[in-house]
Amino acid sequence: MSRAAVAAARRTVVKVGSSSLTARGRLSEGRLDDLVAALADRVRAGQQVVLVSSGAIAAGIGPLGLRARPRDLATQQAAASVGQLLLAERYAVSFARFGLRVGQVLLTADDLHRRGHYRNAERTLERLLALGVVPIVNENDTVATHEIRFGDNDRLAALVAHVVHADALVLLTDVDGLYTGKPGRPGAEFIADVASPAELSGVDVSRSGSHVGSGGMTTKVDAAAIATSEGIPTVLAAATRAADALAGEAGTIFHPAGERSASRLFWLRHATTPRGRLQLDAGAVRAVVLRRTSLLPAGVTGVTGEFYSGEPVDLVDPDGVPVARGLVGYDAADLPPLLGHRTTELPAEFRRELVHRDDLVVL
Ligand code: GLU
Repeated sequence: MSRAAVAAARRTVVKVGSSSLTARGRLSEGRLDDLVAALADRVRAGQQVVLVSSGAIAAGIGPLGLRARPRDLATQQAAASVGQLLLAERYAVSFARFGLRVGQVLLTADDLHRRGHYRNAERTLERLLALGVVPIVNENDTVATHEIRFGDNDRLAALVAHVVHADALVLLTDVDGLYTGKPGRPGAEFIADVASPAELSGVDVSRSGSHVGSGGMTTKVDAAAIATSEGIPTVLAAATRAADALAGEAGTIFHPAGERSASRLFWLRHATTPRGRLQLDAGAVRAVVLRRTSLLPAGVTGVTGEFYSGEPVDLVDPDGVPVARGLVGYDAADLPPLLGHRTTELPAEFRRELVHRDDLVVL
C-alpha cells in the first residue's frame, strides 16, 4: 500500500547524497545526468519533485585545484561555496535537456525552527513548484555545518518533506536499502519493510550503511522516522535505481506511522535544538502535560542555559527528563527572581506566561 502511495505521490522529496553523485571523490556528470533523467520523467508525467542534493564540496575540489576532499571545516565550507554554484549550474544544464528549469534553495535545519523562516521557505517552495520549477535544496554550508559534520542532509530532507506537504520521501544512497548488518557480510539480511521505527530497535543501523557517505544509515533511519511519524511514506534505495525507487519498486519502505501535525508544532518538535532547560515541579508537569496549560513562573524550580525570549527550551520533570518543548517568553537572565512566584506577586511587566500553551509541544 505504501509502495503504491509512493508511486502515485503527487509531490515527492528526493534526497541524494554526495557518494551517489561522485566518482573518485569528484562530481560525476554521468551519475548526475542519470539521476536527473529519472526525476525529469516523473516531472514530465505531471508529478512534482523537490530535490535535496549534496555534492557541493565534491564539485568544488577540481576547480580549486585540491587533490582530495579538504579535511578542515573552513576549507570544506569554501569548497562547498565554489562547488554549490557549479553543482546548481550542472543541474540546470541537465534538467534543461528535458525542458525543465531548476531553482536553488539553500536552507539549514535550524532555519526551520524559526516560525517566520519556516513560512518563508514554505512559500518560496510552493511558488517554485507552482511555476513548474524543480527546487534543488542543499544545506547552506556557509552558515551551517550539520551536513559536513554529521551527514545530515537526510534530516533536512525529512523537514523539507513536511514543509512542502510531500506525499513521499525518497532517500537515495549507494546501498540498495536497509540491512540487518553491513551489506555483503554473512548474515546481513535485507529489510524490505519497516512498519514502525520500533521494529529496528535490535538493528545496529550505524554499521548497516556504506563507507562513503558521512551519515551512514543512522541519519537515514532518523529521517525516515521523522517523515513517517508525520504520515509520509519513505523509501531508502540505491541512487542507481532512482526510477524504480520513485515507482515504489526498489529499496526499503518505511510505512507511515502517524498523522501529519500542524506545521507550527512540527518544526518545534523536529527542527529545534533547545537552548536551555526549565525544571518543573510535579504540579507544573501535570498542568502542562495532562491539562495542556501554559507554563507559569510559579511551577519552575530551576533554569539552565543561556537563551533569549522566543528561543526553544526543554521543559524537564523533577528527575530531569524532558516532557515538553516550547518557545520561552523570557530571557534566561530575567528568570531567577521570578521562579516559584505566583503571577499576582510579580511586577506588571512579568505577569505573563513563561511558555504559552500555543508555543508548546508535549514530547
Ligand atoms: N552540504 C555539503 C555538500 O553539499 C556537505 C556534504 C558533505 O559533507 O560531503 O557538499
